[in-house]
Amino acid sequence: MLKEKVISAEKIQKVIATLAEEINADLEGRDPVFVGILKGAVYFMTALTLHLNRSVVVDFIQASSYGATTESSGTVTLIKDVTVDIAGKDVYVIEDIVDTGLTLADVVALLRARHPRSVQVVTLLSKSSRRKIEIPLDFVGLEIEDRFVVGFGLDFAERFRNLRDIWEFVSDQEGA
Ligand code: 5GP
Repeated sequence: MLKEKVISAEKIQKVIATLAEEINADLEGRDPVFVGILKGAVYFMTALTLHLNRSVVVDFIQASSYGATTESSGTVTLIKDVTVDIAGKDVYVIEDIVDTGLTLADVVALLRARHPRSVQVVTLLSKSSRRKIEIPLDFVGLEIEDRFVVGFGLDFAERFRNLRDIWEFVSDQEGA
């Protein structure tokens, strides 16, 4: 069940506008490709790129490192690859939330193997306390506590992605 609203839609939009300002300044002199990690980053990617003041290439990658559990295995399975050539490009990886960091580390390694000029990571949310692997985050929207959240792209069993606000989700047993 949805336990508590953690981040309002208004706050999310403000955070994204601030991130976009920083990224706009960083785009100078770059040949950018924005790579969103499906499916969670779709809403963030859309909102963020609409704030950018120049044209950028947009693509998506889908990786799965979670099986039936909520813990990352650290071994990424590529479900959908990017369709553009990123060699020599400045890649911005767009992620909804960085938890252990294992998924992102795998995706970044996979992208780096294609010889982009640079790879930077942009995440809307970060749960630093849960990190299992050191991974530099170049642009972070908000730090959050160790709570399982849904909404604005984030799901529980594929549900709740289209909520405008971000909520803490607890299973019915925990919430009872
Ligand atoms: P990591 O490999 O960093 O542990 O996992 C990152 C992925 O786990 C995110 O892209 C997201 O799909 C999922 N994840 C991590 N924390 C949460 C959370 O609080 N809520 C939801 N819905 N997904 C999460």
